[in-house]
Amino acid sequence: MKTYGIVAHPVAHSLSPPMQNAGFEAKEIHAEFIRFDVPPEELKSFTQKVRKEKIAGLAVSLPHKENVIQYLDEITETAKKIGAVNTLYWKGEKLCGDNTDAPGFFESISPLLKGGRGDFKTPKIKAALIGAGGAGRAMAYALKENNINVTVFNRTEKKAKALAEEFGIQSEKIENFSAKDFDIVANSTSVGLKEDKSPVSKESWGEFSGIAFDAVFDPLITTFLQHAKKAGAEIITGETMLLFQGVRQFETWTGEKAPIEAMREGLEKALKK
Ligand code: NAP
Repeated sequence: MKTYGIVAHPVAHSLSPPMQNAGFEAKEIHAEFIRFDVPPEELKSFTQKVRKEKIAGLAVSLPHKENVIQYLDEITETAKKIGAVNTLYWKGEKLCGDNTDAPGFFESISPLLKGGRGDFKTPKIKAALIGAGGAGRAMAYALKENNINVTVFNRTEKKAKALAEEFGIQSEKIENFSAKDFDIVANSTSVGLKEDKSPVSKESWGEFSGIAFDAVFDPLITTFLQHAKKAGAEIITGETMLLFQGVRQFETWTGEKAPIEAMREGLEKALKK
């Protein structure tokens, strides 16, 4: 039996095991997906264990997404540009890193871009990205790669400016955010996680008929998404990004098409617990 897993600290609440195990079961793949709780000072020895025991593939979460890079043989262009890895996989004898948060995010919004709400009037779709941390970097990269015009807003303005400069996008003071200037508004901050708060004010939504996305998935319908929905937005929850980043991982590890519905079910069951 092959062993896969997630390495993080803490890792107890990770939703990757129920999602990936549901995928293995649906495809009748003889594999297990387990949790590895590894503090930062043990990351180096953990990667040695991965090599020695040939652990078949790993999801990487906080706080290791950046630090793990130094212990790998190769990383993809996407991971290089974002500066973070969330997936470890083998290419022959090489232990490699990729970032599936970026395509996972984009796949979660793209059905709406192509579908009903895809009928944007603007020649170029405009996105407001709230937050400039790790998730923000992956989301900015995905939007930019897909030719979307991005403006980043962040509590710490200096970080937004630095990200804008690095990725060739715009930045603005968060106090100046107004949804009406955009087609997509995406929250990449941790504001709203297990709390009734939003990184932008209720008033800043006005009337908004575009797409609102929140990377936070606990609760599923955050205060940010509640305000957006009231303003008229089509909303997408962080669960979708979690699912699609996992779907990409599954396909990288197994070389098989992921059973998306089974994985969604596994994830939803775990989210309800
Ligand atoms: P991070 O690197 O620590 O970045 C945190 C971001 O949130 C920064 O922009 C920070 O602004 C902002 N922030 C934190 N507290 C704030 C506050 N009180 N007011 C305003 N802004 C605040 O974290 P991350 O890794 O990007 O993760 C962010 C969120 O995304 C987490 O909730 C994580 O669970 C979620 N996430 C979801 C998925 C998914 O698949 N759905 C994937 C990855 C991450 P400053 O720069 O001003 O500190």
